[in-house]
Amino acid sequence: MIKLKWICLNDRLIKIHYNGAMLTTQLKQFFQFSEFKPGQQEIVQSIVAGRDVVALMPTGGGKSLCYQLPALVSGGLTIVISPLIALMKDQVDSLRARGIEAVFINSSLNFNQINDIVADLKHGKVKLLYVAPERLKNSEFVQLINELDVSLVAVDEAHCVSSWGHDFRPDYMLIQNFIAQFTNRPAVAAFTATATPEVRDDIVKHLGLTNPKIFVRGFDRPNLMFEVQSGLSQKKRKSDLLNLVQSTAGSGIVYTLTRKMSEEIAGYFSANGIKAAAYHAGLEGAVRTRVQNEFMDNQYKVIVATVAFGMGVNKADIRFVIHCGLPASVENYYQEAGRAGRDGEPARCILLASKQDNGLHSFLINKSQEEMIKQGKSRLEINALIDIKYKKLRQMKDYAEAFKCRRLAVLKYFADPDIEKYQNGCGGCDVCLGMSNSKMILDNTKTTKRLKNINEITGTVAQSVDFYQKGFSLDQIAKIRELGVRTIWNHLIEWYAVGGDFRVEEYISKDQRQRILAVIDELGDYSKLRPIKDLLPENISYEQIKIVIAKIEQEKNVIIKIT
Ligand code: ADP
Ligand code: MG
Repeated sequence: MIKLKWICLNDRLIKIHYNGAMLTTQLKQFFQFSEFKPGQQEIVQSIVAGRDVVALMPTGGGKSLCYQLPALVSGGLTIVISPLIALMKDQVDSLRARGIEAVFINSSLNFNQINDIVADLKHGKVKLLYVAPERLKNSEFVQLINELDVSLVAVDEAHCVSSWGHDFRPDYMLIQNFIAQFTNRPAVAAFTATATPEVRDDIVKHLGLTNPKIFVRGFDRPNLMFEVQSGLSQKKRKSDLLNLVQSTAGSGIVYTLTRKMSEEIAGYFSANGIKAAAYHAGLEGAVRTRVQNEFMDNQYKVIVATVAFGMGVNKADIRFVIHCGLPASVENYYQEAGRAGRDGEPARCILLASKQDNGLHSFLINKSQEEMIKQGKSRLEINALIDIKYKKLRQMKDYAEAFKCRRLAVLKYFADPDIEKYQNGCGGCDVCLGMSNSKMILDNTKTTKRLKNINEITGTVAQSVDFYQKGFSLDQIAKIRELGVRTIWNHLIEWYAVGGDFRVEEYISKDQRQRILAVIDELGDYSKLRPIKDLLPENISYEQIKIVIAKIEQEKNVIIKIT
């Protein structure tokens, strides 16, 4: 039997010193898991010690366990506030299957069933009670809770308390008062996968948390490779998409922005001999269920879906998630892309963005504005919400267009401390893998790593160069090597910068070259591409800027060799 140490603080018993080994034993005993997932143990320890906690972990990170285990080792009752009846039922069923006393109270129960549960609660038979936030409006319920010994209130999907989040639930605003009315305030632990700083601040503020310990963990998914191609024409995107799906092993998801597009592309795949099905909210429930089950059953190579495809998709061996269209926000993107590779094996997350995506988003945002007007929202509120949507879209565009390590960009966005590991890039995204030269251009203060000699071109870059010299086009090389065209492009630019014969004239005019040089001159610096791009006309691309920079590097190298 494990010994607990207790201290008395403000008339409350608080457990401390629940060390890791003890918790691991409990984890095995109650959940039959042999070890904690990243971040779980620290979170559990803080909660058990009586701290308020905000835990930000991605979907599938194992948030539920972070309050379920403390619920079992603490003396009192844990109340779990959860937004969806279906989620509650699943969790309660799974706990009960493990022999744990968990119940829910919600609108799906009748009067007698609720009475039975209340009796069990009063007899201290229950460890976890799940409720929807609406329940907190019910004064009888609140009074009942006050008679019980509550040690923890866990708020699941806590981003619902923030209007910055994608699904604000006004009833979540009731939680703060609910907590405030306890004579002995329990610890409060909030959980979410939506981890932007604004949402996090709102959670702390609107739940009235006291000096909470904030955990951001587990956003890094080392087995996922992130790739982006932006500025594609619709036509090019469609053919790239087909090539990618044909050349990538295993099954995957293609996300589209509209229902129409999901059907169109599914049809296009089928016409090209790929087993595909469309999935969107406009299809009948029965069709959706069938498609989802058949996908789980490996009957399709690819599902072409809108964002309606997601909740409950837990196929572990999804090998690719391709976004055919810019998602509305980085959190949407990461959540959807994150469905790839849950088995820990390598998987690709590819974003194919086109300029037209922006227009479509503006249209959708306008439509949502009309919707809000119909719902009677105030002008002020509508404006604020629309601003948020545009800001999120801008951040998503930055991700797609910035020429920086993708993994680092995402981890920064979520403020995950794992960024420390990747200060020099992750080595596993399109930017880091194929584009080490460009990375060096960004970092040209640290000149030590810059290649100086054509003989230093090796590995993946050398392979691309080899195909190029044999006369293959960039598109062909990309297909052969199963890499993005931009990756190949960057290989060739890297080679060009050390004197390789990459025929860049095909990609840049004299006039464009001069304009770019003038801007670099004006700035006196080419360590960052963005400021250069900002001063140039729209039609000059990052690729063209890179050509000019590579040329400067090339000339420098020549000078170094001569001196
Ligand atoms: P989240 O709410 O963060 O999306 P869940 O709490 O639903 O994630 O957990 C995702 C899955 O991980 C569940 O199937 C859960 O049983 C499992 N899980 C949680 N913790 C562990 C662990 N320590 N070891 C193995 N599996 C775990
Ligand atoms: Mg969850």
